[in-house]
Amino acid sequence: MNHDVRAVIFDAVGTLIHPAEPPARTYAAVAARHGIALDEAEIARRFRAAFRAEEERDRAAGWVTSEEREVERWRSIVTASLGDERCFPELWKHFAQPGAWTVDRDAATVFDALRDRGLVLGLASNFDQRLLRIVDSFQELTPLKRHVVVSSQVRYRKPSGYFFSEIVGILNGMMPECAVYVGDDLENDYRGACAMGMRAILLDPHGLHPEVDRIGILKELTGRFNSW
Ligand SMILES: [Mg+2]
Repeated sequence: MNHDVRAVIFDAVGTLIHPAEPPARTYAAVAARHGIALDEAEIARRFRAAFRAEEERDRAAGWVTSEEREVERWRSIVTASLGDERCFPELWKHFAQPGAWTVDRDAATVFDALRDRGLVLGLASNFDQRLLRIVDSFQELTPLKRHVVVSSQVRYRKPSGYFFSEIVGILNGMMPECAVYVGDDLENDYRGACAMGMRAILLDPHGLHPEVDRIGILKELTGRFNSW
């Protein structure tokens, strides 16, 4: 059986796209407009705790999601981070704007190199439908657009096996081991993909997980071709 790599599927946030400024700074600015004075470090601390709590809520629910659940998640995180639900609509809209994001500077180079090798490219994300407009706005991401999975549209989020089976499903009968998933989250991306029988590479810029197959920057992916 031929298990050569034929597809590379990417996570979005933290892998290909990044907030244009630290989210805590954006939160602090919106809070200030509502008369709430909080420093960025405190917001960042509360954000991390709230984010983890929402992860646990999803885990307990079997990783089911929907557009409504995503709105609810972010409403809870904003409210816990800033102590005021009124800030939520503005922040939700902010992160729907392409201008709130930057694309990894090596993304286009990496996609070109992978496509030159005949590899199918795709995007599979726990972001909600706001991601689709962001993808449309960045020409660099065009090579991914034929194969996109968004968790809120397929009802299950990473690291659910149902989510990863959706990826395999859009790859036209490709064996899971012929697809590589690249992401920055050990549990949601790396372990989720491996559990489905896909290959996985962790984008691990701080070298926190030397025990897994990892890269430090996106551009290192191009060095993997020869072993594929
Ligand atoms: Mg990510």
